Amino acid sequence: MIDRNRLFGTFMDICATDSEPKKERLLAEKLTRHLLELGFVVTEDDAGEKSGGDTGNLFGRLEGRGGGTPLLFSCHMDRVSPGRGVRPRIEGDFIVSDGTTVLGADDAAGIAAILEALTAIKERNLPHPTVEVVFTVAEELALVGSRFFDLGRVAAPCCFVLDASGPVGEIVIQAPEQAKIQAVFNGRKAHAGFAPEEGVSAILMAAAAISRMKLLRVDPQTTANIGSISAAGPTNIVPDRCELEAEARSLDPEKLRVQVNLMTEAMRSAAAAQGGSVEITVTSCYPGYTLAEDSQPARRAASAAQRVGLPVTFKSTGGGSDANIFNSGGLPSVVLSCGYEAVHTTAERIALDQLASLADWVLALISDGADGGHSTS
Ligand SMILES: [Zn+2]
Repeated sequence: MIDRNRLFGTFMDICATDSEPKKERLLAEKLTRHLLELGFVVTEDDAGEKSGGDTGNLFGRLEGRGGGTPLLFSCHMDRVSPGRGVRPRIEGDFIVSDGTTVLGADDAAGIAAILEALTAIKERNLPHPTVEVVFTVAEELALVGSRFFDLGRVAAPCCFVLDASGPVGEIVIQAPEQAKIQAVFNGRKAHAGFAPEEGVSAILMAAAAISRMKLLRVDPQTTANIGSISAAGPTNIVPDRCELEAEARSLDPEKLRVQVNLMTEAMRSAAAAQGGSVEITVTSCYPGYTLAEDSQPARRAASAAQRVGLPVTFKSTGGGSDANIFNSGGLPSVVLSCGYEAVHTTAERIALDQLASLADWVLALISDGADGGHSTS
């Protein structure tokens, strides 16, 4: 049912359309036209105005023909840098960029698969449940866009977010909560040659604090990282200020709290031991989630995958996605793997067969949702 060449063409056209975070206008207009042609009612929310971007989240609804449970699919329109002027091409069994930019398969693959599945349904005039899509903005900037999306507009009981690396058929049902720690160490300036003993080095406080922390892979569920440490100053002055930024993530909220406490305590005790002080700000970036394998979205994703012959695996991820926001807002959401590889690098690529399988999966999900179901088998 899937027209592979049309799918690959749509995919490469999306990749070739500039769509950096907060600058998704061109792609949003293209996708709006596409959705309108498919019969969707499309609206754009005010996420752009609220977040300083030029585009809001697109929300589309295609009324069902023949009943069934409404479905919601979600992808993000933006991509990481370098993501302007992408020149996608087919090389052997893969679609790749020219090596100077990312490909943008993250998340063009999800969008193209949804559009192709819907086009195939429209061509054949098949019955389908109500289908909703939300294409978010600025996902790559810590999930900015989805935070402004009003879940009250959604009719579907759950959401399928197409936005994960890994072979098509994998279903992400668990993701960590993430906290960010910002710290400013305050010491005392002194001449580094004449009277260093009169100074309190903010850099040494930060260094001592870091050396007391357990970082990177903390335990199977928990990670932590120092992302930046900065102090500007000439070498002949004992530095009185040093800024540090760190993060911690865990699938277990209690373990996250423990890890954050250990990190902030290491900072406070290091500062106190050297006669300085530290100001610490802890921010919760997004909540985590854990869904059961028999939860509605996981079950539906698995049965649709099996029906089109995809090997099904449930997995947890170490990263955040719009599903974190939707789940925390009360909409059960799983993330479907899209088959792309090496995302966020200029070596990003996707196998042609994986992209086609993703469209097959979306098509199966929609047909399974229709009353009578299984119309593609
Ligand atoms: Zn993504």
